[in-house]
Amino acid sequence: MLPVVALVGRPNVGKSTLFNRLTQSRDALVADFPGLTRDRQYGQGRYDNYQFIVVDTGGIHGKEEGLDLLMAKQSLQAIDEADVVLFLVDARDGISAADEFIADYLRKQDKPVYLTANKIDGLDGDAAAADFFSLGLGDVYQIAAAHGRGVSQLLRTVLLPLEKQYPDMHREPKSAEPQELTEADAQAEIERLQAQPIKLAIIGRPNVGKSTLTNRILGEDRVVVFDMPGTTRDSVYIPMERDGREYVLIDTAGVRRRGRIDMAVEKYSVVKTLQAIESANVVILVIDARETISDQDLNLLGFVLNAGRSVVIAVNKWDGIEADAKQWIKDELDRRLGFADFARVHFISALHGTNVGHLFTSVQEAYASATKRVGTSQLTRIMESAQEEHQPPLVRGRRVKLKFAHAGGYNPPLIVVHGNQVNDLPESYKRYLMNYFRKSLKLMGTPVKVEFREGK
Ligand code: GDP
Ligand code: GDP
Repeated sequence: MLPVVALVGRPNVGKSTLFNRLTQSRDALVADFPGLTRDRQYGQGRYDNYQFIVVDTGGIHGKEEGLDLLMAKQSLQAIDEADVVLFLVDARDGISAADEFIADYLRKQDKPVYLTANKIDGLDGDAAAADFFSLGLGDVYQIAAAHGRGVSQLLRTVLLPLEKQYPDMHREPKSAEPQELTEADAQAEIERLQAQPIKLAIIGRPNVGKSTLTNRILGEDRVVVFDMPGTTRDSVYIPMERDGREYVLIDTAGVRRRGRIDMAVEKYSVVKTLQAIESANVVILVIDARETISDQDLNLLGFVLNAGRSVVIAVNKWDGIEADAKQWIKDELDRRLGFADFARVHFISALHGTNVGHLFTSVQEAYASATKRVGTSQLTRIMESAQEEHQPPLVRGRRVKLKFAHAGGYNPPLIVVHGNQVNDLPESYKRYLMNYFRKSLKLMGTPVKVEFREGK
């Protein structure tokens, strides 16, 4: 579990600038997904040695309509579900009426709020910040999101009080030189991963059929459902067995809520969904065939892949689709899912149970890919043939030279490539290598990380 930080503020104060700074990972090149980076509402925050979930609440506009109308329902819910709120104001503009509306609302919430004056670059920070004390939210933190100034300090202040509750928020300090795993260590790690139950989350927008699918799976004769242990945030963990394989189903749809009298309508929750993804090994992303695929579906998929989780896509409600519309929908999916062509897509009917078995075949395949043992000599051979087919470019008159590759971890697979001037490799070549590894190793359903190391 990771803490959730919500960014709140009127338009133009710098929320998306801060969001991008917090989520822009300088880590290993995880599958690079062009086209999915703009206008995201939520992402994995990775900054200094912290990891967290960040939600840009976005929808707080003008001032005339009154607060209730100002804040979109989802924004309110995101604030409600966040652990902390960063309330951004613009140090250059001073207090506006919209700031006052928002401050009023936040003061009534029982939620830690950090009032943050952005754009202090080139200003007398203390003087600019002093303006905002009158909002009645305590200290005013000073940052320049565009330049990163003050951001580390702010995050430390915000996240440290959450340390006990979220021990996972500390990232493991990256060793300067990832070790080549010894044969024995790699084997032990793989065996451990393959023996554990697959944590499987069923996610998707409201009404796509998550509950129907969950019920369908749990109701099947071949599935043995065990007693449920505790709950985490809002999702329920359901241990089950199917065809001799153990799973833990992470029920984001709220099908099996224990000890809850009001089972009525389960509120869709982005935060719950994001936490479920973080906790899962494999995610089934359910989409509604009647709506083909929406930006929100793609945002979720991007989050899954950036989190390093494996994915299987279930296009649900296929029973209701006219024969001549089917090909059009398939073409449209191919086009929009091109960046994730390693994910299996199944056309299912949760209502009738059609193709649900195939989903599980792909779930197992994805997890097997994520935990597949790959040796140094095999990876180095693949790297060499990639290099032969397509030479790395010249950088400052010298050809970038790749020397050897080894596994740096599993679930998702991490491949470490050593060479000269590798830090200067263009993104396009890195992506080429990643795809080459993926295809050669026949890895389906899992993102693959490739890291580059200079020298040796
Ligand atoms: P949002 O509408 O709250 O998401 O705001 P944006 O992130 O889109 O930023 C609005 C404008 O403020 C953009 O032109 C940014 O370049 C600018 N901006 C954001 N952060 C800073 C900063 O730290 N300093 C300065 N000078 N400008 C900034
Ligand atoms: P959730 O909000 O994602 O959990 O979606 P539900 O499982 O509650 O389903 C939303 C609606 O879609 C309900 O009316 C379901 O009966 C319907 N539905 C779910 N799966 C299917 C399906 O495979 N085919 C058809 N035709 N309708 C379905």
